[in-house]
Amino acid sequence: MLNIIIFGPPGAGKGTQSELLIEKYNLKHISTGDLFRWHTRNGTELGKRVKEIMNSGNLVSDDITIAMLKEEVEKNPDVNGFLFDGFPRTVAQAEALDKLMESMNTSVHGVIELKVSEEEVRKRIAKRKSIENRADDEEEKLNQRISEYFGKTVHVLPYYRDQNRLKTVNGIGSIEGIFEEISQVADGFEVAKP
Ligand code: ADP
Repeated sequence: MLNIIIFGPPGAGKGTQSELLIEKYNLKHISTGDLFRWHTRNGTELGKRVKEIMNSGNLVSDDITIAMLKEEVEKNPDVNGFLFDGFPRTVAQAEALDKLMESMNTSVHGVIELKVSEEEVRKRIAKRKSIENRADDEEEKLNQRISEYFGKTVHVLPYYRDQNRLKTVNGIGSIEGIFEEISQVADGFEVAKP
């Protein structure tokens, strides 16, 4: 298996690069944000529980998030690998993911951080907002999500850096150029397995 985490602030281009990555390496894409949005859209029990906290731009609790992630991973026992997107966002989630991978006799092979400054992210999201009109993209929620990332989520990075599992790619440039760099990094994870 090849298991990769793509990491970066809202608006870094994780969605675009994820699509390219899953195709090239034949990975199952698991985005916790997409999963939560699916649950809220479909009005499931889980959706009802997380709707308010999501709309405020704050993080859903680790318990709920980890349980949902685990279920999604276990639904896909035969895949070539996973691309985790939006997860982990806390050290507790990172530890839970390592345990889960270990229980499957595999591991997280590496983390790709798409690095984009806070200023650039704010510019990009303002543009995306005018096209997509995502419910949680309203101004104050957006501010909250960006603050959440640069204030808290980034604290997960040292967990992986200390274990030499972190690679940083500059997220500013052309889609193709960035993907080329990301591919080189992913090829390195593949070679360095397990
Ligand atoms: P963004 O576009 O800000 O990167 P996502 O689409 O990944 O956000 O997630 C949207 C929302 O879903 C988050 O603001 C948060 O409320 C919730 N969420 C997603 N992933 C996680 C996670 N790993 N832990 C806690 N909450 C999460």
